[in-house]
Amino acid sequence: MTSDFEAQLRAVSLRVTRPRLAVLAALHDHPHVDTDTVIALVRTGHPMVSHQAVYDVLRALTDAGLVRRIQPAGATARYESRVADNHHHIVCRSCGAIADVDCAVGGSPCLTASDDHGFTVDEAEVVYWGTCPDCSEGS
Ligand SMILES: [Zn+2]
Ligand SMILES: [Zn+2]
Ligand SMILES: [Zn+2]
Repeated sequence: MTSDFEAQLRAVSLRVTRPRLAVLAALHDHPHVDTDTVIALVRTGHPMVSHQAVYDVLRALTDAGLVRRIQPAGATARYESRVADNHHHIVCRSCGAIADVDCAVGGSPCLTASDDHGFTVDEAEVVYWGTCPDCSEGS
């Protein structure tokens, strides 16, 4: 799996470094986590990696398109390594749990704007809000 991450970094001309590999691995195993969780996950295996280094890596990977940053309204920013497939998210209003939802239509953008105001639309950001199974139980 590490060599996969190395290949991903090389494909976008980013130097292969231990912190970058660690962040990609953490996001692969734990999608939709916030910055603090990424730091905790990375430092479990690499205690020498600083908070600032993780911030820098997240920004570099996001800029390079290897990591997607999502920020549901009212929530902290989350990161995931599943990118470029225009999938959407369903968010629990109660506990903040996030799950992936494949696009109902397929291609990006999945929604045709009724009036695009002359913009070239390449993405439709869709967030489904609801109550997750854990939070639904007993209510
Ligand atoms: Zn919930
Ligand atoms: Zn996702
Ligand atoms: Zn869609």
